[in-house]
Amino acid sequence: ERCVVAVDGPSGSGKSTVSRRLATAIDGIYLDTGAMYRAITWAVLHAGVDPQNADAVLKIAQETDLSIGTDPAAPHFEANGIDVDAAIRGPEVTGAVSAVAAVPAVRAMLVQLQKDIIAAAPRIIVEGRDIASVVAPDADLKVYLTASAAARAQRRSAEDATDVTATEADLARRDKLDSSRAADPLRQASDATTLDTTGMGIDEVVAELLSMLNS
Ligand code: C5P
Repeated sequence: ERCVVAVDGPSGSGKSTVSRRLATAIDGIYLDTGAMYRAITWAVLHAGVDPQNADAVLKIAQETDLSIGTDPAAPHFEANGIDVDAAIRGPEVTGAVSAVAAVPAVRAMLVQLQKDIIAAAPRIIVEGRDIASVVAPDADLKVYLTASAAARAQRRSAEDATDVTATEADLARRDKLDSSRAADPLRQASDATTLDTTGMGIDEVVAELLSMLNS
């Protein structure tokens, strides 16, 4: 039986860890749409293109051969045959990804790719910002994960060993950029279920989502 789950939320809400665990639990695949925007951003920077130059960014996006890993145990990405798993988590890409994701034609291109991957997959957990609202409005389960700003910064800095105050400032900056564009992808789908994960452990969150899926 087909099963599509949309997991949206800001960074640090725990959506990556939770989505991967959920995909494993239902024996499905995992699609990290943020990693797609990050991989295109990596290609833009690698080509020496200004991330603010929308036309040039779109050209790179169209020319980049993306290899999108969907194994929840090891979601491996390549851009033009180059392993970008580490680089797409680095500060250069993180600093430029919001600008790249703001280009409407780049979004249209990646959203189509995401829809194609979902259509071909019997069971899939899709993680992002606009999954329930734009990419998979027909998903079987739509969840919006949130957490307090402090909890989100704490988790993120534990992941990448950066200073928690700087991380909180960077998350606030990206939230603002991501939600200030015309078609706001952080806009919550009205029929998504919000789960505040502040103070919740991963096992607890996964168990909660599994029970929602089975009810
Ligand atoms: O989820 P993650 O932090 O990896 O996403 C990186 C960036 O990609 C976000 O800050 C946002 O600008 C963009 N993004 C998006 N739409 C998605 C997923 C990510 O605009 N579906």
